[in-house]
Amino acid sequence: MVSGVRGLCFPGFCGVCGKELISGENMLCMSCLYDMPKTYHWQCKQNPLFCSFSTLPFLSGAVAFLFFRDTSPYRKLLHRFKYNGLCEIGLYMGQLFGKELIPFYGTPCFCEQGIPPVLVPVPMSSAKRRKRGYNQAEWLAAGLSAATGWPVDVTAIARVTEKRSQTVFNKQARQENMKDAFLAKRISHHTIILVDDVITTGATMESCARALLDKNPELTLAFAALAYVE
Ligand SMILES: [Zn+2]
Repeated sequence: MVSGVRGLCFPGFCGVCGKELISGENMLCMSCLYDMPKTYHWQCKQNPLFCSFSTLPFLSGAVAFLFFRDTSPYRKLLHRFKYNGLCEIGLYMGQLFGKELIPFYGTPCFCEQGIPPVLVPVPMSSAKRRKRGYNQAEWLAAGLSAATGWPVDVTAIARVTEKRSQTVFNKQARQENMKDAFLAKRISHHTIILVDDVITTGATMESCARALLDKNPELTLAFAALAYVE
């Protein structure tokens, strides 16, 4: 299925600059691959994303793979992944992200406890999933899992309400909008990495984390996202 999707999505052209790919290139051309706006959050626990969650004392790490700037050509890639049905972008980027995380997982930089984590993609409601056809966070988690060997659990938490679009809200309004949006179940995992495509204000991640902790107060939690809006 994946190769079929790829054939439809990228018939040999870079997903960022549109240049024709040459032999050995996959999804991105060499130049766009090396110029990716990586955050390197995983090399420093007190990174700007982690510090933005200072009201969450239970959090043991927060990392995003790329900066998500308005003017960045990489925005196109992420947009195609999220809205245009190009799921394999998430799988591919998740693998690149996972390779970066492996050496730092279990160190003071990221999730110091070091017990192998379970990846939990942020869920979407069944109605939204039917409409879009897929949950992009699951594809990203699948890519992370392929690179790290960490298992994925898509049943730990469900989205019970699909709230209004978040794009026009400020942080406080988003938090209110996301309240009680998720319902978690009791699970046996020690450490969870919550996975989502983009972190803007962090209200979605926070709401998800609080629902999980409500049922599992002893849980160790970290956040991982493909992109971080500065
Ligand atoms: Zn390119």
